[in-house]
Amino acid sequence: MAIERASKPRAAQKEPRAAQKRSSAREAGATPEPWSALLEEGRQDGRLVRESREGPGSARLVEPPPELHPDVLAALTRMGIAQLYSHQAAALHSAWAAPTIVTTGTASGKSLCFNLPTLDVLCRDPRARALYLYPTKALAQDQARALAAFGLSERVRPAIYDGDTPRESRAQIRRRANVVLTNPDMLHVGILPHHDAWGELFANLAVVVVDEAHVYRGVFGSHVANVLRRLRRIASAYGTEPRFLLTSATIANPLELAERLTGLDGVRLIDEDGSPAPGRRIAVWNPPLTDELLGTRRSALAEAAELLAQLVAGGARAICFMKSRKGVELLSRMVREELRDHPELAERVEPYRAGYTPQQRRALEERLTQGELRAVITTDALELGIDIGELDAAVVVTFPGTVASLRQMWGRAGRRGRGLALYVAGEDALDQFFCRHPEDFLERPVEAAILDHESPQIHLAHLLCAAFEGPLSSEDAEVLGPRWEAYAETLVSAGGLRRRTASTGRGARDAGAANGTGRTTYVPRNPGDYPAATVSLRSASPDSFAIIELESGELLGTTEAARAHSTVHQGAVYHHQGRAYEVRELDLEHRRALVAAFDGDWYTQPKRETDTTIERLLDRREVAGVRLSFGEVAVTETVLAYQRRRVQDHAQVDLVALDLPETSFSTQALWYELDSATLAQSLPGEKLLGALHAAEHAQIAVLPLLAMCDRWDIGGLSTNLHPQTQGPTIFIYDGHPGGVGITRTAYLRFEELCRDAHALIAECPCTSSGGCPSCVQSPKCGNLNEPLSKAGARMLLAGLLERAVIAAA
Ligand SMILES: [Zn+2]
Ligand SMILES: [Zn+2]
Repeated sequence: MAIERASKPRAAQKEPRAAQKRSSAREAGATPEPWSALLEEGRQDGRLVRESREGPGSARLVEPPPELHPDVLAALTRMGIAQLYSHQAAALHSAWAAPTIVTTGTASGKSLCFNLPTLDVLCRDPRARALYLYPTKALAQDQARALAAFGLSERVRPAIYDGDTPRESRAQIRRRANVVLTNPDMLHVGILPHHDAWGELFANLAVVVVDEAHVYRGVFGSHVANVLRRLRRIASAYGTEPRFLLTSATIANPLELAERLTGLDGVRLIDEDGSPAPGRRIAVWNPPLTDELLGTRRSALAEAAELLAQLVAGGARAICFMKSRKGVELLSRMVREELRDHPELAERVEPYRAGYTPQQRRALEERLTQGELRAVITTDALELGIDIGELDAAVVVTFPGTVASLRQMWGRAGRRGRGLALYVAGEDALDQFFCRHPEDFLERPVEAAILDHESPQIHLAHLLCAAFEGPLSSEDAEVLGPRWEAYAETLVSAGGLRRRTASTGRGARDAGAANGTGRTTYVPRNPGDYPAATVSLRSASPDSFAIIELESGELLGTTEAARAHSTVHQGAVYHHQGRAYEVRELDLEHRRALVAAFDGDWYTQPKRETDTTIERLLDRREVAGVRLSFGEVAVTETVLAYQRRRVQDHAQVDLVALDLPETSFSTQALWYELDSATLAQSLPGEKLLGALHAAEHAQIAVLPLLAMCDRWDIGGLSTNLHPQTQGPTIFIYDGHPGGVGITRTAYLRFEELCRDAHALIAECPCTSSGGCPSCVQSPKCGNLNEPLSKAGARMLLAGLLERAVIAAA
């Protein structure tokens, strides 16, 4: 969908008779939907664990505000948009008054919410400029086409400026374009440091659009929050204060996210969706248990292959989402195999993954829109352009990590008044928790997008970049925060900055500097350095290892030094953008891992020895009968060996010893101390350790419900005697150096963390004493899931909850 149409006359007129027939057939009780039989089967044997209906709802339409510039009004008329959805008009009014974030549903016409105010400004002021930020190149491409479709080429000149933009076109884009579409990485490394070349843009910057803002969380979000502050600082040096307009998927904390990302106060929220919800059925599907004791289920992949084949055979057009690229290939093959009796259909099932050229992408999207392709299987909603229209069914195989992305994927389903949004659960703890509590997940936004722009290493790195863009001075407190000077002093001690006593006036280069005399500013110690080049927005620490493909010599990416030993040790199977590699050599001296494409059927899990040392206590409270603390810890880790396990059944293939030195990093953590005397009665000796360990795993498994993150972003340690606390203690720490606020959220919402972890364990049907992968076993445990006591953890957490209830009563 290139352009949102407030009223959809074409779609409505296309098949009025067919639509009527269909709805009367449904009313009569005969459901001609391609998934009726399949759902009935699931209802009978219990695999369908939840179903509900959404929509179809009716649109709330309003007249476009007459204050809009006549050219924009005329463009809307030309495009057949006679009316706006109510939220689009509300967003327009809000955008005129204050920074705004819009969080209405997928396909609700969110881009019109920021395009209208932007076009309005550009039509009024020929010098005005706008900057659009997208997390992926494909999305920027799509938006450039959407802008062009307004047909305002006299006044609106969009251009994409990213890593793919040819050098020879760059100067012209800087001069001519008045909507620059880019990504945060390019803004950080290619635009802000060269702001003098972009003087026209910054001196006239009226609007900054941040689309898909929920993507900016965790490490990436903490970086982007700094980049946006640097952007505001440079704009201010050129005399502008752009209006920020954001959009986000539905999350628990949209206003907080907008304010933390931009550093602005008084952001307004538009969340009342006036678009007509498409009619769709929601179905949550759990593959059957194959082993009660071990808690194993039929694989989600096999289950999904069967379901997709049935959908395709029934005449549905479907899209299917999976996490890994390998999974995408495998599932495509399996679906075709299922359709072996219908070769004409089997040919119309295709994988769609990163790595295709734009032309190949467009061709596939074209075949899908035209209905020639029946099913496409892909890795990530954001990898798609948007031009594929709506499909009958969207199938999500295994939990994509957040409900926000699940909803985004489901949003593809619903065409001509019918649709199926199906989720097939995997065996992971969150998947199974979801199956037992679908309402909790679906009826309220549960996850918050967390970031911390003052995460030390990230913030210091950007302060250095900011100083390169213009000397830091007292004027910067407003944008960089009141603690900027203390951080600047840290950089002086570390040798990155030096103090300078300013005495003369400055040009635009000296952004943000005061023009008084004798005031101290901070400038880079080595003016020849280019700090942005050494800061990657995707990693917490500039201290990193390069990951290089052995055969081609190509740099695939980098990994934080603190995580290198555990993720890219020799022999590790390493996943990068959905593709698997095997590490052939970890070169500690040159800080690089040499990898080769991997096609084996095993994965690896490192065995580690971890210690935590409490470095600084920041907050403490008594809760649920424990002493709960939040602060900074040093995590010291030695990777001792790794286990190779078969993908199909997780069985151990072998254990390979490694000889790696110890590593250490500082981060944020919560820890809680349990009373050993109370515990000793119910959980003697070895059982205590298993209980602590299993409780820690369960809490880490459910933490992504509170703060959008991956369990791989969090680490844990449990011990029956910590040298500093002198008793049984459980630590949960941010896995990235410095931390980005995830464990702070967990600290503040500790009671919920205990409640969810307890439910996860208590409700898991497995009967094995060591639990199963759907409850207390962790795929990343450094102790290879030894020892674990499911019953002990259940008892321990029940005790905490009991005391929390007593305290609350
Ligand atoms: Zn279990
Ligand atoms: Zn563990």
